[in-house]
Amino acid sequence: MRVFFCAALLTTAVVLLTGCASTSGVGRFSTVVLDAGHGGIDRGAKGVDNSSEKIYALDTAKRVERGLKRAGYRVVMTRKRDNFITLPSRVAVSNRRRSAVFVSIHYNWARNSGASGTETFYSNSKSYPLAANIQRELARFTNNRGVKRSRFHVLRNNARPAALVECGFLSNAGDARKARSASYRQRVANAIVRGIVKSSR
Ligand SMILES: [Zn+2]
Repeated sequence: MRVFFCAALLTTAVVLLTGCASTSGVGRFSTVVLDAGHGGIDRGAKGVDNSSEKIYALDTAKRVERGLKRAGYRVVMTRKRDNFITLPSRVAVSNRRRSAVFVSIHYNWARNSGASGTETFYSNSKSYPLAANIQRELARFTNNRGVKRSRFHVLRNNARPAALVECGFLSNAGDARKARSASYRQRVANAIVRGIVKSSR
């Protein structure tokens, strides 16, 4: 009991400190379905610097694609250019594939311009390790807002382990400045790749 209590306490401390416990994986997979948020007529969030979320989301997704291909994964992009696709068709791309996981990439927005940092969403317990592994990597160099449960359409209707990553707040001057830099988007992409690779076990 005492030992159990300490272990439970320790785990809780880790979750609180890092926002995600040292998690395992989602089982082996060979394919990653990458979903760049928004697109076309749907620009997504508008940044304090008039930036467009859809542009950063696609750029970051393409950087993740390159990293995953270098790591030997097959990558399927729900969109490769600035076009509009519905949420159900994004999920359909994922549900058609067997040995796959789904990762959606977004940039955040809040009425409170002070909100900043990264957070990762998931919908069910089988997806939690994927979301937690990604967020732990992002937490190394961003303000960590943790791993959160959500009913986003592309997560709750997904038959595969699925996560949605918010890579920074375009409503926050500091995050918007970071998102403008290719090196920040590359660092975010590298973290997402590490989190995905760590989830394949
Ligand atoms: Zn978005």
